[in-house]
Amino acid sequence: MGKILEVLSKGGTLVSDGAWGTFLHKKGLSADQCPESWNLDRPEDVYDIARSYVEAGADMILTNSFGGTPLKLEPYGLKDRVIEINRAAAQISRRAAGKDILVLGSMGPTGKMVFMGEVTEEELFRGFEAQARGLAEGGVDGLLIETMSDIQESALAIRAAKTRPGLDVLCTFTFERMQSGEFRTMMGTTVEEAVASAMGEGADIIGANCGNGTAGMIEIVSEIRKLHAGIPILVHANAGLPIYRDGATVFPESPEEMAGQIKLLVEAGANIIGGCCGTTPEHIRLMAARIHLK
Ligand SMILES: [Zn+2]
Repeated sequence: MGKILEVLSKGGTLVSDGAWGTFLHKKGLSADQCPESWNLDRPEDVYDIARSYVEAGADMILTNSFGGTPLKLEPYGLKDRVIEINRAAAQISRRAAGKDILVLGSMGPTGKMVFMGEVTEEELFRGFEAQARGLAEGGVDGLLIETMSDIQESALAIRAAKTRPGLDVLCTFTFERMQSGEFRTMMGTTVEEAVASAMGEGADIIGANCGNGTAGMIEIVSEIRKLHAGIPILVHANAGLPIYRDGATVFPESPEEMAGQIKLLVEAGANIIGGCCGTTPEHIRLMAARIHLK
């Protein structure tokens, strides 16, 4: 059992952090820049984001390593620096977290699919394995495989993460509501199939991130909880569904609106609650205030 499961076993709900991408762009990251390069070139800006979430009251924070696989770093000429970049990402969040706050190493999708012939299983596994090694060396408490839609990729990522002893492995998928009303990943995988796959590979904590505001996540969490009574569930909802306003993407759920629905998320069965796109330290601050009240 890793440290995250250990803390969860004491009961109660944990607060995770909010958006990183949104925050990095606000700090000046341009669309053609590699977000993970900032771990080496602008560590203090990355630290500032991590620290903002610690100060907001989060019990755990992520790392700036969502696109830290060799496949994602390759177009920026950073493929050979995978370990160094992920280690730096973990060290920065660890420094911000201190001893008492947990750190989750973020591992996002590569954007390449085995069934399309774009990549081999071996390449995917090796890439995630290298990322996991860098994050582990930098001092994370767990590895969060997130925003997954292809269960072939998530399975390989979980297998790679499981090679790091002592770390909890978390896996979250991004589901979208179909016209029929049910939720599926972009690849057409149902909630039941996705969760069964991740649990079958040995994920310790499962859940959903991105793609939905809080209301959609309440439904998804309820669905997972009906299927599996015991597995811890992590949720990172967006601040509502994006709206295009004056040429920009806006996430409409205010900190008050999101925090106001926390009770329903907890009742649905969520054990760890944070935010995805559009959420800010203020969203996390209000969520933490509600959750830590109990
Ligand atoms: Zn998101």
